[in-house]
Amino acid sequence: MSLLAKKPYIVAADIGTTSTKTLVIRAADGTVLASHSIEYPLYTPKADVAEQDPDEIYRAVVDGVGAVIRKAGAAPEEILCVSFSSAMHSLIAVDRGGNPLTRCITWADNRAAAVADRIKKEHQGLEIYRRTGTPIHPMSPFVKLVWMKDAMKELHAAAHKFIGIKEYVHYKWFGDYYIDYSCASATGLFNLKALDWDEEALALAGITADRLAKPVSTTHILEGIEPGVASAMGLLPSTPVVAGATDGVLANLGSGAFEPGIFAVSIGTSGAVRSVVREPVTDPEGRLFCYALKEDFWVIGGAINNGGIMFRWVRDHLATLEAEEGRKLGLDPYDHLTRIAEGVPAGSEGLIFLPLLAGERAPYWNANARGVFFGLSLAHEKKHMIRAVLEGVIYRIHSVAEALVETAGKPKEIRASGGFARSPFWRQIMADVTGTPVVVPDAIEASGLGAAQLGLLALGEVKDFNGIHAWVRTGNRHEADAAHHETYKELTRIYMEVYHQLGSQFDDIAAFQKK
Ligand code: ADP
Repeated sequence: MSLLAKKPYIVAADIGTTSTKTLVIRAADGTVLASHSIEYPLYTPKADVAEQDPDEIYRAVVDGVGAVIRKAGAAPEEILCVSFSSAMHSLIAVDRGGNPLTRCITWADNRAAAVADRIKKEHQGLEIYRRTGTPIHPMSPFVKLVWMKDAMKELHAAAHKFIGIKEYVHYKWFGDYYIDYSCASATGLFNLKALDWDEEALALAGITADRLAKPVSTTHILEGIEPGVASAMGLLPSTPVVAGATDGVLANLGSGAFEPGIFAVSIGTSGAVRSVVREPVTDPEGRLFCYALKEDFWVIGGAINNGGIMFRWVRDHLATLEAEEGRKLGLDPYDHLTRIAEGVPAGSEGLIFLPLLAGERAPYWNANARGVFFGLSLAHEKKHMIRAVLEGVIYRIHSVAEALVETAGKPKEIRASGGFARSPFWRQIMADVTGTPVVVPDAIEASGLGAAQLGLLALGEVKDFNGIHAWVRTGNRHEADAAHHETYKELTRIYMEVYHQLGSQFDDIAAFQKK
């Protein structure tokens, strides 16, 4: 018999880089009954350092779970389970007593950049990537550990274990270290086929498997929460806690994009394109990541640095007068700027923007790449530049999506999320450039919803993920305009050619800028 009559609620905790968001979700229909969010700082004492305090995050999780349960008015015995979503790639060194020896080094920390280059060149980085699915990049715990081995020699030798932020929370609740396959698959140390730590990657990182957490399925259930902590949160010590997965793969699930043929595109500050596949696959050229959702569901995709941040740059540096004009009219400056861009035809009358201001990740991983306006003529005005920036971000996303198509097949639909999805105009550009319908799922907390769905599966309340479709309503749909698509096809070809012409020139200008 279903447990849901007696235990109708699921608590989802989504540990993000800026905040932990907690939700109470009605298991029967996915309704979010209460939500709570607690922020914490990112410490960046130097440009390439990006760390967080593990205990600040731990407090946010405990306080957030407690607060959301109180808001929902749920009794401890009414809660079916707690399920977790977590940011990827975090690394904490702990001592034998579980005390942190480092802060939580986040994905954004760049100190291992030179080490990443070295691994690629000297240690068959591509081979390691092809087994682990994590691109060789300073974001990954693997590369950070190789860096730490020299840069923090004593600490690297003395640490009892190296863990991620979710393992830190679970250790405090259960007194042992478990890492779900999803978080493990984003460490760069995990062999996707064997579902276990990769000996060669471990050797390069200078550690053995006993210095990492024990890998478990994302549906693994942990029981026996430390009683004091459980009661402070409004849970029973026996409330099942589902290991959970990373925020990226759960966002796919929670936005209903978990079937082959549906790409999920999110553009916030940065951007990403992802698709679900049924077995782990990597890209022969090393362009895409591959992370686990479950043993038989994997998410492949690529991330770009220059997403919505490009439009923010337009608002704050290029079109400041226009943005101010918008504010005076009582409008969101972004809405005012998109309206100005709408006055220009598709393709910005031949003005192309390469949005590479912050260097680039997928598909070509070139940190030295820089922005370019190409094709500027006397006929172009600022409104063309604004539209060209919006189009350029989509060209970039499209080039990652094209790499994905080679492995995942052509999409029949794109699910759009993140700040950019607030703009119908920008969404239409996406449909027109990609030639694929764009749909906006009504799931603001997609990762949390995904975690709740995973919880239902873990508890045996559902047999598959199909129930997510009833949880996620889809709102606006944009069909591609055939004429615009033709225009964009011509321009994306030129865009790619310009990009590939600039190789050493990017290195030269980046070196000049560093002087
Ligand atoms: P984060 O990655 O910090 O969570 P968001 O998902 O909130 O960021 O996205 C912020 C970005 O979304 C902005 O930089 C901007 O490019 C874009 N954006 C926000 N509002 C709008 C809007 N009304 N129209 C177009 N773009 C918008």
